[in-house]
Amino acid sequence: MKKSVDVIGAGLSGLYAACYLAKNGYQVRVFEKNESVGGRSRVFEAEGFTFDMGPSWYWMPELIDKMFEDLGENRQDYYQLKRLDPAYRIFWKDHEPTDIPADMHSLKKLFDGFEPNGGEKLEAFLSDAKTKYDIAVDKFLFKPGLKWKEIVNLGVFKSALKLDVFKSVDKDVSKRFTSAQAKAILNFPVLFLGEMPSRIPSLYTLMNHADLSLGTWYPEGGMSATAKALKAIAEKHGVEFHLNAPLKSVEVVNDKVQSMLVGNELVSTEKLIVSADYHYVEQNILPPKYRSYNENYWDSRKLAPSSLIFYLGVDKKIDHLQHHNLFFDEDLMAHGETIYKSKSWPTSPLFYVCAPSKTDGDVAPEGKENLFVLIPVAPDLDDNQEIRDRYLQIVINRIKKHTGVDITDHIIYKRDYCVSDFKQDYNAYKGNAYGLANTLKQTANLKPKIKSKLNNLNYCGQLTVPGPGVPPALISGQLAASQIILSK
Ligand SMILES: Cc1cc2nc3c(=O)[nH]c(=O)nc-3n(C[C@H](O)[C@H](O)[C@H](O)COP(=O)(O)OP(=O)(O)OC[C@H]3O[C@@H](n4cnc5c(N)ncnc54)[C@H](O)[C@@H]3O)c2cc1C
Repeated sequence: MKKSVDVIGAGLSGLYAACYLAKNGYQVRVFEKNESVGGRSRVFEAEGFTFDMGPSWYWMPELIDKMFEDLGENRQDYYQLKRLDPAYRIFWKDHEPTDIPADMHSLKKLFDGFEPNGGEKLEAFLSDAKTKYDIAVDKFLFKPGLKWKEIVNLGVFKSALKLDVFKSVDKDVSKRFTSAQAKAILNFPVLFLGEMPSRIPSLYTLMNHADLSLGTWYPEGGMSATAKALKAIAEKHGVEFHLNAPLKSVEVVNDKVQSMLVGNELVSTEKLIVSADYHYVEQNILPPKYRSYNENYWDSRKLAPSSLIFYLGVDKKIDHLQHHNLFFDEDLMAHGETIYKSKSWPTSPLFYVCAPSKTDGDVAPEGKENLFVLIPVAPDLDDNQEIRDRYLQIVINRIKKHTGVDITDHIIYKRDYCVSDFKQDYNAYKGNAYGLANTLKQTANLKPKIKSKLNNLNYCGQLTVPGPGVPPALISGQLAASQIILSK
């Protein structure tokens, strides 16, 4: 008889864990709180628009392809990718907008326009970023983070020192570049990692390699294509999905979860993978004795930002927007301080606008624009409707200023989403959007462990190794599933 495993949560990490186990001969059931799969990478439809709810940047395509290969699958059998060119547009305060080209020659020319020898300096910077990326993928990303000897390796340590990976991204960038634009472009990707560039180790300039060398892609069918493909693969291997089925409690016998209440059903279980919010499950569902971390521990963690998001259906096209648009027309440092220091609402926020209808005719009715607007904000803020409305007005004004289009009377669909929705929908600790910040003290083995004190429970997802983001979520599912397979 097949051994069985239950997976709690059908985000990308849980879906991947389910596929990996099922492919390796396990009987798998998935229990998901919400009515659809994908977790933060879900979609919803309204008024003829299809909105991706979370991720919008498809980066590191070869890593995602590898994850499909590890399931014995070819990603291209599920969806196709298109490289975006330009990758994105940046709106500045005092300059014309900059489009980031996909090809290296044009990119170097762009940097030459920013400062003397800009292109040459960029080439050297990206060469180091590639080395860091290769080290991270080869030596860290696929390690379960359980023992230091997994990653302590003299060769890696020597190259790490040579590349100064422990100094900050900001220092690394400022040492090499002088122009405000070059610095802003090179500091931007680490903002995904949940800290100011001055506090993220320069190891993470590997993200610049992902951004500028590997490129920004768009999956046909939208960002949820990955979750949809994984669900199809899981079903092909006989995985059973139980939706609207939140884990509510567990019964523990001899240091093992023996049964659990999911929705209104009491089910027995052999082994469990929890991909739902790590903090929520430990603090609210497990008996205290089996919690690896207490509230003080969690409270001392540095979280990546939460987000105020607007999903807007607009009844006209906005010519001056690209698919991805960064509104860097206000002071990054001032906004960053409100997220990481004062934990307050920003006065003059930077924001990001994704207009997937520029690339994909299926996400909006003809002649209309699908907009996803994201303002990074501190976790756990009060986010009442009056505040949300105030920020929408700021966004509308700034879009008008830079594109000449006032969308006020053209918004035919609007949904807002913020801290309290992350808590409500995903049980997200402090309403976090992207998990823990990737500071040095919260990297690799220093993240909450995938292994629990319970003998038959492992965690995966963005609060454990390797961290937040689409590729890491998939890897996390593989790591948790591998622990079960190895313990056979
Ligand atoms: C707004 C936003 C934008 C992002 N942009 C990008 C991007 O552009 N590129 C990128 O690579 N990454 C991006 N990310 C990060 C990436 O989407 C996430 O890191 C990744 O999707 C997390 O997957 P996960 O499986 O760890 O968690 P989740 O997707 O949160 O999955 C956890 C699942 O557990 C379920 N659950 C919770 N409690 C229970 C319970 N009690 N019982 C059962 N189920 C439960 C939840 O409903 C959810 O479905 C973004 C994230 C957000 C929020």
